[in-house]
Amino acid sequence: MSDADLLSTISADSGTPVHDPATGELIAHAPAGDVATLEEAISAARAAQPAWAALGDDKRCELLNAAADAIERHAEELAVLLSREQGKPLNGPNARFEVGGCVGWLRTTAALPLEPEVIVDDGEKHAVLEYRPIGVVGAIGPWNWPMMIAVWQFAPALRMGNTVVMKPSENTPLSVLALAHVVNSVLPDDVFRIVTGDGEVGAALSAHPDIDKIMFTGSTPTGKAIMRSAADNLVRLTLELGGNDAGIVLPDADPAAIAEGLFWGAFINTGQTCAALKRLYVHEDIYDAVVENLVAVARQMPMGVGLDENNVLGPLQNRAQYDIVAGLVEAARESGARIVLGGDPEADQPGNFYPTTIVADIDPDNELVTTEQFGPALPIVRYSDVDDAIRMANDSPVGLGGSVWSSDPEGARDVARRIQAGTVWINNHGAIDPRVPFGGIKESGYGIEFGVQGLKGLGVPQVIMN
Ligand code: NAD
Repeated sequence: MSDADLLSTISADSGTPVHDPATGELIAHAPAGDVATLEEAISAARAAQPAWAALGDDKRCELLNAAADAIERHAEELAVLLSREQGKPLNGPNARFEVGGCVGWLRTTAALPLEPEVIVDDGEKHAVLEYRPIGVVGAIGPWNWPMMIAVWQFAPALRMGNTVVMKPSENTPLSVLALAHVVNSVLPDDVFRIVTGDGEVGAALSAHPDIDKIMFTGSTPTGKAIMRSAADNLVRLTLELGGNDAGIVLPDADPAAIAEGLFWGAFINTGQTCAALKRLYVHEDIYDAVVENLVAVARQMPMGVGLDENNVLGPLQNRAQYDIVAGLVEAARESGARIVLGGDPEADQPGNFYPTTIVADIDPDNELVTTEQFGPALPIVRYSDVDDAIRMANDSPVGLGGSVWSSDPEGARDVARRIQAGTVWINNHGAIDPRVPFGGIKESGYGIEFGVQGLKGLGVPQVIMN
């Protein structure tokens, strides 16, 4: 199948127009889903669930691996479409990387060991814990890593014997429709259904009485709305919400050695990543050297249209996000912070390009530090006492990820334990692995994805005791 064939298969003649965020050009129309199409998809997924569960774990894993093979066969078409719709370049840790991640996640999810757990076996009593399918899982996703996050939601759900109705972000419906089209070429009918639409369709999905669990990845305010609408049905929830991850650079770190890791920690996917490094605290002894080395790395990273093989950074996916980033940087500038790189977007451009921006000597209470910018603008705060840095890092309503940068990993671990976040990385930021549990604390949500623990979140525990 060519790029054009895949696109024409999944798009609609009329429907919602989807534009390329780099050029403003129309890519295609996405079918316009609504509450009526949602009803049909949920009842089809409900009807398909018993047979899917009855296939057994081995067969389901075989089909997940077949889905990974199918994605591999169409990897380039999928990457091109993802690049055009989301904006991320083909190269760098971007579109091809994301499609490769989908394959890796599917295969690893299919290989995770999930055995019955014998809890008590003392000669008198025997208790074993097993996991049963929950039923129909509703999945709602964001626009930043649309294909990869779709896989994070549907792969473990399907593995555990559930069927899935997914609503992709209205900003990136084509990527998820294309991925699902490829995956569904090997899955039984109605096991994995997509319904496009906006927040209204998402709200109807999360309030639907025939949905047994919601997997949601998106912003904290939407997570709270979902929690409210899911309450009447006591629907189970996994909420992967926003973050404002802090990184702490200790005085013994080597500024040149960590510069590239800091750069990608903050600017991967042009900053539009849930667990990106969003505020950096650097000890005064090495502050200037860290800023200088980071700026030097940033200058070497070309930003532009995603289909140009040279680029490793792209536009913001949508104008609303561009406006948020631009507003935060302007306010930081007006507050007296020093813009050491970027901060000067081209006016009247057709795309949503905001340049890589590094803001130094910024007040720790500035809004660019205290809110999630979700774009390519990193504030760097100076500190003199590590206890202060930890206090500032923890002074946030969210707690998704964090990082500590040091030449002494043991000392860094001690600092890591004091950071309030679901994951703390040492000398990198944001590296994830399908075998390793991932989830947020505080207002970054709850529930775990990935690994065996992630699988358990997509089953209902059952104890059998005699
Ligand atoms: P968003 O909350 O605006 O939208 C996410 C999805 O929710 C979309 O599909 C949207 O249509 C739907 N939605 C909107 N209103 C709804 C409602 N009332 N009920 C149900 N669904 C509704 O988020 P976004 O702007 O697409 O994504 C950016 C946010 O996602 C950032 O805050 C980012 O940090 C977060 N995010 C978190 C993770 C994670 O793993 N923790 C990963 C990626 C993104």
